[in-house]
Amino acid sequence: MNIDYLIIGQGLAGSLLARELIQQGCKVIVIDNGQENASQVAAGLINPITGMRFVKSADVDTLMSTARHCYSQLAGFFQQEFYIEKPMLRIFRSDSELKNAGKRHNNREYQAYLGDMQFPGKAINHLATPFGFLEQKQSGYLLTRPLLSCLKAFFIAKNSYRQADFDYRDIQLQPSLHWQDISPKQVIFCEGYQATQNPWFCWLPFQPVKGEILTLQHQTELPDKILNYGNWLIPLNDHRIRIGATFDRENLNIHTTEQGKNDLLNALKQISPNLTPITLVNHQANVRPCTQDRQPFIGHHPEHDNIAIFNGFGAKGSLQIPWHSRHFADALLNGTPLSKTCNIERHYESHFTG
Ligand SMILES: Cc1cc2nc3c(=O)[nH]c(=O)nc-3n(C[C@H](O)[C@H](O)[C@H](O)COP(=O)(O)OP(=O)(O)OC[C@H]3O[C@@H](n4cnc5c(N)ncnc54)[C@H](O)[C@@H]3O)c2cc1C
Repeated sequence: MNIDYLIIGQGLAGSLLARELIQQGCKVIVIDNGQENASQVAAGLINPITGMRFVKSADVDTLMSTARHCYSQLAGFFQQEFYIEKPMLRIFRSDSELKNAGKRHNNREYQAYLGDMQFPGKAINHLATPFGFLEQKQSGYLLTRPLLSCLKAFFIAKNSYRQADFDYRDIQLQPSLHWQDISPKQVIFCEGYQATQNPWFCWLPFQPVKGEILTLQHQTELPDKILNYGNWLIPLNDHRIRIGATFDRENLNIHTTEQGKNDLLNALKQISPNLTPITLVNHQANVRPCTQDRQPFIGHHPEHDNIAIFNGFGAKGSLQIPWHSRHFADALLNGTPLSKTCNIERHYESHFTG
């Protein structure tokens, strides 16, 4: 069967790229092994102002507007909401965070993203805020699991999906590209952190980070806002909350741990000591496809122009993938040059040894 693109991986990256290419008239097949992936485990948070210095990255306005547009189009198409916009209370952990936030609060460029700031002393129900807090706007979270299952059904309906464990040895590059009965013009790898095992792209400087997340049930009245206290808390329906996420660069597996659970519960206790009784509903772990320079990995293999990668979205897939899917589709279909910051060409000289 002749097709345009064979996409390996149906996480958020493979799914949104495949949909973009299908919308532009391409024949696409997506292969996935059906295992729980980072996209399904992720909290899906979008938070334009990040870090202890409350920084807004240069491209955040563009990324935000493309992400919003993409998720609202998908909501219209599938007749259900996937992106929940909700303000975030950033609870300061030190005086220096309070000072840094104060500087941003007075900066006009940040006005669209920042709301009220409260100095120490102002209490909110059941929350300890000894250094004060700041309300952030334009934050929210993506319901990744229902979105990915709708997209899977969409691909299946278009005969564009196969469940399979893709074995790299089964691909034939010469004289023409083949995998099983499929002859694609190009193969695009969207395997998340498992790309570190990919014989053609394992040389890229990935820096995967494992994360664990808890879903809890409780009986306390919390504000209907996302909380960010170094970790984050997302309020769901029926007195449920999700809290996360740990960062572990050493143990790159998808097993949940007692240590991860305790770290998350202890951090929660610091800001909400009276949150009781708590029942553990779910405990999940997966690995973020982070990169050394914190930029995505997009582009073609230096020696094989019919194999490409679309990966490296780290801890910001929900914000970054919509814009980069469109950008890569433009490069593939119209020859638009890829931006230097995401193009893997930046690592050819330093990391590719042939
Ligand atoms: C704990 C945690 C919390 C996170 N929180 C957030 C957050 O709040 N906000 C945010 O934006 N991002 C968050 N992320 C990051 C987010 O998950 C990623 O940025 C994004 O989901 C990566 O998508 P992906 O498609 O590249 O990878 P994945 O979702 O991992 O998808 C890769 C897919 O490829 C498949 N695959 C791989 N190899 C093969 C093979 N050989 N054969 C067949 N199939 C294969 C896998 O099974 C998988 O389905 C979080 C991640 C974790 C782990």
